[in-house]
Amino acid sequence: VFITLEGGDGAGKSTQSSLLAAWLREAGREVVTTREPGGTELGVEIRHLVQHRRGHVAPRAEALLYAADRAHHVATLVRPALERGAVVLQDRYLDSSIAYQGAGRVLGADEVRELSLWAADGLLPDLTVLLDLDPEEGRRRMASRADAPYDRLEAAPDDFHARVRRQYLALAASEPARFLVVDAAADPDAIHARVREGVAGLLEA
Ligand code: C5P
Repeated sequence: VFITLEGGDGAGKSTQSSLLAAWLREAGREVVTTREPGGTELGVEIRHLVQHRRGHVAPRAEALLYAADRAHHVATLVRPALERGAVVLQDRYLDSSIAYQGAGRVLGADEVRELSLWAADGLLPDLTVLLDLDPEEGRRRMASRADAPYDRLEAAPDDFHARVRRQYLALAASEPARFLVVDAAADPDAIHARVREGVAGLLEA
């Protein structure tokens, strides 16, 4: 079972991932938690490459670097884990690319989706939890985090994050069977309860 968590910075993806992983492990499931970019050794290098040059990587190069990370990650970690029956719980996947590179960097949602699916050899999540949050609230949360890396505080133009959010919501609307949209302004336990419901439905199916 392949579950991805999506949403803007500060939406609470890591918190929800930990809560969900703990709940699934409690239920006796093997859970692999991972993320993109940076779920493999190669991915960590790619993450470093892109993020330390943020704003200075040509948008198409950025999309290709994330796609390279994804290709290696899916082939060497995600697919093998799914094949042995584990639940893979992943922070960001192809919807991030469609939202950030496709809409944020205006490369085109369809083109980036094609590129991502090619990189991932067609692998789509069984469930994608979209933690939807007003970007301004996300920015406030990130700014107050003690471990917030400097690059997160870099003020990307607001319309960038507005485009990202709109694209995420458009994806969710176009694939309602795959997406669970949760209001990320709610408190973490309430969000976790919603997420659990969605995942329970998936595991019973
Ligand atoms: O910690 P996290 O993986 O969520 O951070 C990744 C950062 O890289 C985010 O700030 C996000 O803006 C950016 N990103 C992106 N395109 C992707 C994935 C992440 O711009 N496809």
